[in-house]
Amino acid sequence: MPAITESRYLVQASAKNRHWHSSDREKMCIRCGEPKPLGEFYSYPYTTRQGKRSARYESRCRECSKERRRERSLANPGMDAELSRRWRSDNPDYCAAYSKEYRSNESGRKTKARLQRLRKARMRSGSGDDPSIRAIYAEALHVETLVASCPVFDIPELGKKMHVDHIMPLARGGLHVPSNLQILPAGLNMRKGAKCPQ
Ligand SMILES: [Zn+2]
Repeated sequence: MPAITESRYLVQASAKNRHWHSSDREKMCIRCGEPKPLGEFYSYPYTTRQGKRSARYESRCRECSKERRRERSLANPGMDAELSRRWRSDNPDYCAAYSKEYRSNESGRKTKARLQRLRKARMRSGSGDDPSIRAIYAEALHVETLVASCPVFDIPELGKKMHVDHIMPLARGGLHVPSNLQILPAGLNMRKGAKCPQ
C-alpha cells in the first residue's frame, strides 16, 4: 500500500528533522519558568568526546540571561572590568597570540585603518598650522638634542627620542590643540598608547 509507506516516510523524515537542536524545540527557562524555543537561548558550540560538533545552551532564556547579567554588573560595578583585567594578566600568552592574530586579520586591519583616518581627520580639524603647536614640536626636537648629548640621561626604558603626545588620545576624542599636547619620552608614550589619562 503505497499511501502508508509514504506517510510512514514522512513521519520518519519529520522526526529526523526535529533533531534535538532544532530551533523550534522548546526548552524550559530555569528563571522565568517559561518553555521557549531553543533559538531563544544563547548557545555555545563545542566538540564532543566523539569529535562531533555540538552546542550547549544556557539554562536561562536570552531575556533572563541579559537581565541577570545586568543585575550582577549593577550589584558589582567594575567587577567585569576587574575580572577581565585579571584574566588577561593570567593569560598573557593567549592575549599576545590573540592581538597578533587580530592585528593581521581583516577586522584588525580595518580597525587600524579606521583609527588612522580618525586621527588624521582630528589632526586636520584641530588647527594644523597653529604656531603654538609648531612651537611644541620644535621644543620636543630641542629636548631630544639635549638628551642625545647628555651623558647622564640614559634610561633605556624611556628611550632617547621625544614624542609630542596627545594627553587625551586622538583615538578617544582628544583634540590636536596645545592644551592637549605634552612632550613625553618615546618609551613612556609607547606604553601609554591610547589609554585615557589617569
Ligand atoms: Zn526566561
